[in-house]
Order: sequence, then structure tokens, then C-alpha cells
Amino acid sequence: MDKISIIVPCYNEEESLPLFFAAAEKIRERMSVEFEYIFVNDGSKDKTLTILRGLQQALPELVHYIDFSRNFGKESAIYAGLQASTGNYVTLMDADLQDPPEMLIEMYAKIQEPDVDCVAARRADRSGEPWLRSVFSRLFYKIMNKISETPVVDGVRDFRLMTRQMTDAILELSEYNRFSKGLFTWVGFNTEYVAYENRERVAGDSHWSFFSLLRYSIDGFVNFSEAPLNLAVYAGMTVVFIDIIAVIFVFVRALFWNDPVGGWASTVVIILFAFGVTLLMLGIIGKYIAKIFSEVKGRPIYIVKEKK
Ligand code: UDP
Ligand code: MG
Repeated sequence: MDKISIIVPCYNEEESLPLFFAAAEKIRERMSVEFEYIFVNDGSKDKTLTILRGLQQALPELVHYIDFSRNFGKESAIYAGLQASTGNYVTLMDADLQDPPEMLIEMYAKIQEPDVDCVAARRADRSGEPWLRSVFSRLFYKIMNKISETPVVDGVRDFRLMTRQMTDAILELSEYNRFSKGLFTWVGFNTEYVAYENRERVAGDSHWSFFSLLRYSIDGFVNFSEAPLNLAVYAGMTVVFIDIIAVIFVFVRALFWNDPVGGWASTVVIILFAFGVTLLMLGIIGKYIAKIFSEVKGRPIYIVKEKK
């Protein structure tokens, strides 16, 4: 019999967890497969761990949990869950029921088809999302797919069902700066998409703020594209080119029109512009250096406090 490992990253999900577990168990009853739950408590500050302990004690064969020593982020939780999984199929689900467990039935049917290695859920719309967030999300996917060789499909969440083979491939990418949406594509294999309508969280609040999403987007660009570095090179070349013309202009004017003073405004504008560009480019290069720095330190992606 097939075994599906369900990996659920949890950060302050005391309200959602019981609802999630009940919903997932209903689906298990409708499917003739074995389940294995791997909850990853990502440093929650509420009763999430207590709930997980309770579930594990009641169903020790079915429910497992990993408790982190602090909040390491969803990407780290996903990695820990993938490492602990033993099923021949693995699925990633959010605890807030935004990834409807009933879709697992359809995904499982689809992954049985020949040459399908992964079935990912894709939001058909962005209803229920603040419009400003939608605008920026769309922009992110547009830019990402222009500048990166690793395409990311708009509306795809982390919710997916994968074969053991693909899971092992992802586990081999042990980088510290993890951008899962990119990693899933990078490993290749055949991914099919199933559409669904966007859902609101059952309880609690999203952990994303505008700035954390901005940071996430920049991480995506820096981890999966060298285009920002090329931008630095091209912008630098453009400024140098403009500078050469400006030098010739100033030189010729001083030589033939004998007008050494004046032009204060243009000088200041040029200096400010050049400084601005330089700082921006230094910032971009700094981003990459910061990534290299965190990568070479080779710190663990997460630290486990308790595991059952
Ligand atoms: N999550 C996590 N660590 C974090 C933030 C979130 O494990 O630092 C979990 C969270 O408990 C949920 C999933 O990741 O199960 C998605 O989080 P959220 O609902 O906030 O994101 P959204 O659905 O808005 O993208
Ligand atoms: Mg959510």
C-alpha cells in the first residue's frame, strides 16, 4: 500500500491545527492509502506544541512532530519535514486549511498517471487577497520569470504531492538560503497543475507583512538569478558612457567659449546621480555577498529541540 507523508509547518497555529487535523483525517478515511503526519513546530509562542504532543500521544503511529528550538521560517520547516518523511509520496500542506486537504484525492489520482512526478495546486484566482498584494505578487512573478532561468508559475503555492524520487532530489539541495518555489522547479521532473479557488485562513492571521513579502521577493531574485548583477554592470557602463560625453562637452566648451565657471547645477546633478547609481549597485552586490556569507558559514538549516 502507498504511504503519503503529510508535512505541515506550524507557526502559532493553535486555532487552526485541530480543524486541519480533523479535515485531513476525513480525507484519509476516503483514500485507501497509509498516512504519516509530520508536523513541524517552527518556534510557536502559543499552545501549538501542546496540541501536537496530545495528537502524537493519542495516535503515536500516525502522528509525528519535530519541535524547533526557535522560529527558523517555513522554508526550514519544510526541509526538516522532508528529511523526516518516510512515505513513497510526500505532500506539503499549510496548517490553516488554505491548502484544501480534499485536493489530495485528485492529486493522488493524477500522480498515478505515467511520467507524472509531482502534482501541484495552483490558485485559479487571488480573491480574498488585498489588491495591493495581488499587484505586487503579479509583478514579482513577471520579473522573476524574465530574469531567472528557473521559472516560477504564478499562483502556485508550496502545496504539492511529490514522488519519493523528487523528494530525495530536493533534499540533495542542502543550501542555507532556501527558496522552495525555485527549488521545486530547479530539480526538474514532470509537474502537473490542478487549479482551485483561493481560500481564506480558517483561523489566525497570515504571517506575512508587506515588508516580509518584499524580502521574500528579493531573496527569490538573488537566489535564482544573476540578472541584478548584470544590471549593475550595464548601469555602470551607461554612466561611464554618459560621463565621457559630458567630459568632452565640458572640455570643448572651456576651450572654445572660454567659460570656465558656471554649470554648478549640472555638476551637482551628475555627481548625485553617479553616487546614487554607485550606491544602488553596491547594495545589489552586497546582497549577493551576504548570501555567500550565510552560505559559507555552513550553519544548520534548523535545530531540533524535541522529536517524536
Ligand atoms: N509558517 C511557519 N513558519 C513561519 C511562518 C509560517 O512554519 O515562520 C507556516 C504557517 O504555520 C502555515 C504556513 O507556514 O502553516 C503558511 O503560513 P501563512 O498562512 O502565514 O502564509 P500564507 O498562507 O499567507 O502564504
Ligand atoms: Mg496561509
